[in-house]
Amino acid sequence: MNFIEQIIEEDIRQGKNDAKVHTRFPPEPNGYLHIGHAKSICLNFGIAKKYNGKCNLRFDDTNPVKEDTEYVDSIKEDIQWLGFQWAAEFYASDYFDQLYLWAEQLISEGLAYVDDQTQEEISKGRGVPTAPGVESPYRNRTVEENLDLFRRMRAGEFPDGSRVLRAKIDMASPNMHFRDPIMYRILHATHHRTGDKWCIYPMYDFAHGQSDSIEGITHSICTLEFEVHRPLYDWFCEALRIHHPQQIEFARLNMTNTIMSKRKMLQLVKEHHVNGWDDPRMPTICGLRRRGYTPESIRNFAETVGVAKRDNIIDVSLLEFCAREHLNKVATRTMAVLDPVKLIIDNYPDDLVEEMEAVNNPEDPEAGTRKVPFAKELWIERADFRENADKKFYRLSIDREVRLKYAYIIKCTHIVKDEAGNVTEIHCTYDPNTRSGMPDRNRKVKATIHWATVKYSKKAEVRIFDRLFAVPDPDNCEEGKTFIDNLNPDSLKIQDGWVEPDLTLEKAMKIKYFQFERLGYFYADPDSTEERLVFNKTVSLKQ
Ligand code: ATP
Ligand code: MG
Repeated sequence: MNFIEQIIEEDIRQGKNDAKVHTRFPPEPNGYLHIGHAKSICLNFGIAKKYNGKCNLRFDDTNPVKEDTEYVDSIKEDIQWLGFQWAAEFYASDYFDQLYLWAEQLISEGLAYVDDQTQEEISKGRGVPTAPGVESPYRNRTVEENLDLFRRMRAGEFPDGSRVLRAKIDMASPNMHFRDPIMYRILHATHHRTGDKWCIYPMYDFAHGQSDSIEGITHSICTLEFEVHRPLYDWFCEALRIHHPQQIEFARLNMTNTIMSKRKMLQLVKEHHVNGWDDPRMPTICGLRRRGYTPESIRNFAETVGVAKRDNIIDVSLLEFCAREHLNKVATRTMAVLDPVKLIIDNYPDDLVEEMEAVNNPEDPEAGTRKVPFAKELWIERADFRENADKKFYRLSIDREVRLKYAYIIKCTHIVKDEAGNVTEIHCTYDPNTRSGMPDRNRKVKATIHWATVKYSKKAEVRIFDRLFAVPDPDNCEEGKTFIDNLNPDSLKIQDGWVEPDLTLEKAMKIKYFQFERLGYFYADPDSTEERLVFNKTVSLKQ
């Protein structure tokens, strides 16, 4: 049980909030969700589920300039794909009327004022935490004057940035967020939902807690950077005398070799360092989905990472471990040769084609078997043959034997090279008695290798990824450099591969998750066509 669950269980025991639990996930629709958001989603929806409560989806859409419905749609898709369903869908902008009334209420009670200072003057006046700030010359305006000015701000009489509404709290507070925080700013911008109805917009601190309150949220879970905002969250709820949810902070998820910020992800997309938000190298949920991560593996990752009170950095290999663990259970096995060299079985009849029975998933007997054609000429991986093999190399070499998976034991007799010395043909003989069902089927050899027939297998495009960033902490750069300079120039490799002939577009898209035997886990990419399947390498079989 994590510390948030401990707090919640104690609240339930004491009958707080009528022993009900109501959480929310509050994304700002200004980008696609990333794995850090997945952590927050699993936490908020997970807690609601565990305690028979509810979890809302609330779009924190108070900044019209950066927000868009494209992001709203992608966020909903990603949450559902992760396996969660919100109790209700809300928008902070649904509450603009109520928030406006509350602002007038605070003005009327002498707790808010219109400030005509510039942004620079305001931040200068706030000062530094160690010394009291300076009060604004407009701080002691009358209620009437403040109400009049605020109404005229709303009516659009003033240009952007000319005035703000501030809470009148304490310019000497050691907590900088208490030094008369800004509640409203003027912004003549079209909002993706409210259009041109508003030209003043509430700040995060004047919108978030009140939105939680309106929805009857009991536990408002957020990341650690909001800890310093909590006194203000509490102050607004108290001053307005409204339902007061409890804000609880936890450490945000950080991961090695990646960045976790919508702003930076947007830069990667806009500057074409990646092929869109769902590029399989991106830490976005849609990127991970396209890479071949399953929702189960991401949920399991979130669970394994746990909930911390202090910032830490999780190694990306943990995420990969969780992917392997789940894909091993569900991925359909198939054989694919990605770096082919030709193998010719000299004593195999020229026109014979045998159907070899192959197991679809040894972890799942119900997945059954399939037939793979076998013939005289095959592709095998170049790395599975070595001309000068030492004792530790167990795979194919001249005069040595290996088993061809689901088929025969073969023995290499000789090889053919081109002028440059590259092996172009490997010749071998096979032992007909070693096929399954034959007397020598159990004869042991040191290695089994996979293969594809030259005549029947299909060519496919295979995309192989490396870390998007070459260093563990891309944000940590030398002077004058940015995280962009830490991109790994070799993070994408595209090559051809030979896959089993029965892999049609329809079948590949239905199965989606594959294990290319001995190579790794691969995902059928939506770029696939009938003529050309495309596979993304999710992760190798072992670390
Ligand atoms: P970014 O910095 O990427 O824009 P954000 O925090 O501004 O992230 P929001 O849309 O405001 O993004 O986040 C929605 C919710 O997800 C918030 O409750 C936020 O605390 C949480 N969240 C965001 N990033 C992480 C993370 N790395 N780990 C855990 N939770 C996160
Ligand atoms: Mg944010």
